[in-house]
Amino acid sequence: MRRLLFLRGAELLAFAVLGAIPLLVLNEYALGLLTLLSIYGILLIGLDVTVGYLGQVNLAQIAFLGLGGYAAGLVITRLGMGMGPALLAATALCLVLGGLLALPALRLEGPQFALATLSFAALSATALNELESLTGGAQGLSIAQPPIFGHILTKPQFYWLCLAFLALVWMLMRNLLASQWGRAFEALRDSPIATDAMGVGTYRHKVAAFALGSGLGGLAGGLYALNLGYLQPQSFGYEQMITLLLGVVLGGRKSLWGALVGASVIVLLPNLLSKHDLFLAFSGLGCAMALAAGLRGLVKKTTRPFQALAPVVAMGILVVGGFFVPNTEDWRKAIFALMLFSVVVGLPEGLMGFLTGFLAKLFRVPEAPLPEPSDLNSVLPTHPADGSPLLVLDHLKRYFGGVKAVDDLSMTVCSGSIHGLIGPNGSGKSTVVNVISGLYTPSGGRVLLHGQELPQGSLFRVARAGVARTFQNLQLFGELTALENVMVALKDVYRSPLPLVLLGLARPEERRAQADALALLELIGLKDQARAKAKDLTYGAQRFLEIARALARKPDLLILDEPAAGLAHPDVLQQIEIIKRVHQRGITIILIEHHMDVVSELCDAVTVLDGGKVIAEGTPDEVKRHPKVVEAYLGQPPETDSATPHTDGGAAPLPA
Ligand code: ADP
Ligand code: MG
Repeated sequence: MRRLLFLRGAELLAFAVLGAIPLLVLNEYALGLLTLLSIYGILLIGLDVTVGYLGQVNLAQIAFLGLGGYAAGLVITRLGMGMGPALLAATALCLVLGGLLALPALRLEGPQFALATLSFAALSATALNELESLTGGAQGLSIAQPPIFGHILTKPQFYWLCLAFLALVWMLMRNLLASQWGRAFEALRDSPIATDAMGVGTYRHKVAAFALGSGLGGLAGGLYALNLGYLQPQSFGYEQMITLLLGVVLGGRKSLWGALVGASVIVLLPNLLSKHDLFLAFSGLGCAMALAAGLRGLVKKTTRPFQALAPVVAMGILVVGGFFVPNTEDWRKAIFALMLFSVVVGLPEGLMGFLTGFLAKLFRVPEAPLPEPSDLNSVLPTHPADGSPLLVLDHLKRYFGGVKAVDDLSMTVCSGSIHGLIGPNGSGKSTVVNVISGLYTPSGGRVLLHGQELPQGSLFRVARAGVARTFQNLQLFGELTALENVMVALKDVYRSPLPLVLLGLARPEERRAQADALALLELIGLKDQARAKAKDLTYGAQRFLEIARALARKPDLLILDEPAAGLAHPDVLQQIEIIKRVHQRGITIILIEHHMDVVSELCDAVTVLDGGKVIAEGTPDEVKRHPKVVEAYLGQPPETDSATPHTDGGAAPLPA
């Protein structure tokens, strides 16, 4: 409660102060800056969705500012319509264009995505320039502000309108980003594969996020056009894009406050460059801050020397350069570049990221309390298990070029059992899992669950069909907390439609999700670390957490790919205990495991693979004595009983 009061109080105060300024200071210049601040605030909140939450370098936001501006301008000048339709058209156009751009572009990752958005920005700048009959080309487009209810807004009134839009966007986005939507955005940034495997749908969330961010860009563009009354294509070019990126990273990613701080920087930058003394003072301050932060990092051993030194040098160049260059405006591109570099290297969390921890300590803002865990029986109802065939692999094949990783494999997993899948390294175990779970498309054969064919080649659809899995190489959502990792995957909890989520009316289901996720964390013994980021957990805890996350899917079949790999002995024991608990709830498990003692202790049935083929099947004891198994593991036929088992190249150790 205290936390909520503090956070909401800070927001209310900020908006009240911003709103009250025109009443106190009747300065048209300041008013202009404040109006721009509100507009850029909306623009950066939109950009932060892709840059911060999706973690993609998005270079198209400036294009959406321009397109939104022109859309609003044309609706007013050509169609003679009012402000409402103009802003609506600007937002809708960019929402749609953003969605369309996202469809192909978001199949791309990293640099390719950045280049795709850059191409879009270049294309839209050219279009605005060349479609002269529509946009006026380089001549520009003049827009007279249309009246609202027969009344032309005064400057302060227009500012309040922009501020009201910013407040609205702020509120809606706060609700959205704190919901399952925001978690999904972050999850897919950290691991798109796991996001799909948890039935969350990477692609639809990426497209939604990008469309949303672009729509906000369009709204900002509409307000920008109304504010300036004049548009020119060159206002939406490459240089402005750099400024926007600077705003987001300097302000602080994944933060509404960060967007506001970033927007102030963008608004103040031109003034900074036009006043030489101010520029020198500012870069001197920046250099001193970089030095202090760098030294602090070095003493605390949180930064490496390069990370500490590079921003100091970059800001130092600005200070020294400031003395030699009389007109800093001519150098603005280089200056922005140096500033961007310093921030990216020296202050990766941005100003707000830096300040939040500090403020939280200063004001002793308590963490929001967590609810009591739900009853495990309601989160993970016990399955009736009758031993009937649950999963059937029917002549399954998967080839990689000439490598037959899975070669005509047939096997049946019975409901309620723990079915071991063992074999030397490279025998195709992980490939089987990847084919069943939809990461790979089979080269031939079928997979049946409950007698029904599973979808092929779609992690998302297989997850929805009731299969959950963990990964041999951990695929956690590192930046999310343990609790959030489980919450992302929870099935059957999030039912509120988007409008209710936006209005903040989905809180009850959020609480329920927290309680359910806590119950699962309790099951694996991580309840006390619910708030720790997944990347900060111990390796063992991370392995346990992946199981809890998979259980949130309430699966019929759980596939564990080497859940004990790399674990220290006590952790192996705890892992066995966890798997037993899961099994007691009637969940069928496929267990890939290297430690034969673990297999013997847990498994009801074992299938042994070698070279993608089944070489033995049976109970753990039967399998252990099977001649082919001994041969596969030891590389020689079992002549005498004295053959000493050994591990080479990581092959599974067999007990003597
Ligand atoms: P295991 O999990 O039993 O150690 P894998 O299923 O990982 O074995 O690998 C089986 C074989 O398939 C190996 O020869 C491996 O090199 C090959 N393989 C697995 N995944 C791929 C891939 N994505 N591309 C090419 N070859 C692969
Ligand atoms: Mg493997």
